[in-house]
Amino acid sequence: MLILDLLLEAANYSPDRYGHDQMDFDVNLAKNRPKTSEILRLQKRIVRLKTLAKQYKRSECARDALIAISNIASTVSCPDDFYEGVHNHLKQLVSADNFFVAWVCPKTGKIEIPFYRDQKDNCTNYYDSDTLSDVLESGLTGYVLKTAKPFLGNKETLSQLIKEKKITKQGSSCRSWLGTPIMKQDKAVGVVVIQSYTEEDSYAQPEIELMSFICQHIAGMTERLKQNTQLEKAISMRTKELVLAYNELKQEINERSNAEKLQKSLFDIASLCSAKTEDNDFYQELYKILNQLIDAKNCYISLHDPISNSLYFPFHSTKQKQSNPNGRPFADGLTEYLIKHKKPLILTHQDIQRMINDKKIFQSTPYCLNTQEIKQWMAVPLHIHHKVRGALVLHHSDEDTEFQAKDLDILKFVSQHIARAIERKEAIEATQKNCIELERQVEIRTNELATANQELEKEIQRRKHVELQLIYDAKHDPLTSLPNRSMFMERLKQAINHIKRHPEDCFALIFIDLDKFKLINDTLGHLEGDRFLVETADRLKLCVRQNDTLGRLGGDEFVVILDGTQGKNNAIEIADRILQLLSQPYTLNHHKFYSSASIGIAISDANTQSSEAILKDADAAMYLAKSKGRGRYVIHQPITIASVKTTSKTT
Ligand code: GH3
Ligand code: MG
Repeated sequence: MLILDLLLEAANYSPDRYGHDQMDFDVNLAKNRPKTSEILRLQKRIVRLKTLAKQYKRSECARDALIAISNIASTVSCPDDFYEGVHNHLKQLVSADNFFVAWVCPKTGKIEIPFYRDQKDNCTNYYDSDTLSDVLESGLTGYVLKTAKPFLGNKETLSQLIKEKKITKQGSSCRSWLGTPIMKQDKAVGVVVIQSYTEEDSYAQPEIELMSFICQHIAGMTERLKQNTQLEKAISMRTKELVLAYNELKQEINERSNAEKLQKSLFDIASLCSAKTEDNDFYQELYKILNQLIDAKNCYISLHDPISNSLYFPFHSTKQKQSNPNGRPFADGLTEYLIKHKKPLILTHQDIQRMINDKKIFQSTPYCLNTQEIKQWMAVPLHIHHKVRGALVLHHSDEDTEFQAKDLDILKFVSQHIARAIERKEAIEATQKNCIELERQVEIRTNELATANQELEKEIQRRKHVELQLIYDAKHDPLTSLPNRSMFMERLKQAINHIKRHPEDCFALIFIDLDKFKLINDTLGHLEGDRFLVETADRLKLCVRQNDTLGRLGGDEFVVILDGTQGKNNAIEIADRILQLLSQPYTLNHHKFYSSASIGIAISDANTQSSEAILKDADAAMYLAKSKGRGRYVIHQPITIASVKTTSKTT
């Protein structure tokens, strides 16, 4: 029971922070108790057990602290947290109110103090000192770094070292000083120091081991943090690189997207220009596409008409106004400046103002000055048929808009298409004008030709008529319109030819000569003689048939071919009728006259050879009738005159 109590007592043992406890006191008391061998044995045992329990507790406490330090070493994210944690746990194990960590900076080789706690010396004395590294190096810290071994010193050993000039005296004198090196690959790279200023807090071998343990963890921790830092650095760098790459990619995608948009718009412009679009539609469509690429709210196209030396505006669109302004004389405005200088321009408000001040523009046309609101003015010349004939202009008055060089490039591209479209339009207009002119010329020429044709037709008709008249006149007697000698002789030849081909047929030729016609001429005049001849011709027409040919050989001589005459009886019948009709009274110059004629008849036969011969025969028969007293007919007899008949009526 006593042993159990003792064990329990041992188990309840609670050392103070320096390992001194109540059991020491109890053992002393036990010494004064009555001693038996058993009691002594047990007491010894109790003492041993108490010592063991004390060591056990101390070990357990140290173990927990070391485990905690280990945990901190593996979890902290910065050295300061680690040092702070180590210091807190260390204080539970040893007297560590005065504690600092020194490091040799790998870059500079200088000694730095990342953590410092001291009851007497203010750490800022060191931190701010430029000579901190030299001070530490010449002291115990430097000594431990050089020796790379733990150093446990007290007043005496420290004085000895100072005396041996291995170190110099620094800071307040301490009772006990323990420095342990932080090793890295057999080299001391830092020192962890604890020191006490009181006798009872002096250090020994266990503290050396404890501090060595802590140093190992510090080395491990710094290595881990270093790796962590490197890793974080690497991650940060990689992240930066990735962000950079991402941004570049994003920018590239944006640029490509913009380029695609631009390409599509430019393609749209090109196809719009090759399509047949009405004038105004063309500009509106073009403007719509242009507006997708550039801020083109204020846009106009201006053309120079060299003939009238004026500017006109086939397209004009502003925020305020959609209709095209009136044209104006070509003067010294901004548009004229561009057309004259033939180069693209991007002008700011200040540029324009400077040009006005330099008297380059709006000198002769101050009333045209309307650029006060304009913040930027961008324009390109329109090259039409290899000459600058106009301008494509954009301008804006927004503070947050800015035309750039790429906008000017787009405008140049668009201007080329506009120029081509205007060229095409002008060519179409010229062709239309030419066509209209050509049509007008053709119409004039056609009318002229039609008139000429009509004239020609008339002339042809007239000439035909004249020709026919000539032919008629050539073959007719102008006074009586009867066939004349020429025509009659042709007919006579035809008749002879006919009977030559058809010997069974025959014809009769009657030769008529008026009796004493001269007398009419002489008494009534030649004109009345003509009228008498005409009247006679009319009467003779009544005596012959359609197929017969009546002609006038000249003077008062008339002849008749009786076609298909059946012998001389038919001829006699006709001759009688003639004599009968011509014996009828004539009214000439309001007076009655009587006349007669002498007729010779020739009948064709197999012996008839020629027209002249048969005419001669008829003429001879007629003369015979004259000689027989006129007013009668005589039939020509080839051998003898066969028969003669006389009429009683004579003039
Ligand atoms: P005959 O009885 O012998 O036939 O005598 P005639 O008076 O009739 O004289 P003849 O036949 O020889 O002359 C015809 C005249 O007719 C001669 C000429 O003066 C006339 N004569 C000839 N041609 C024309 C003519 O065209 N008009 C007129 N008025 N007279 C003509
Ligand atoms: Mg006569």
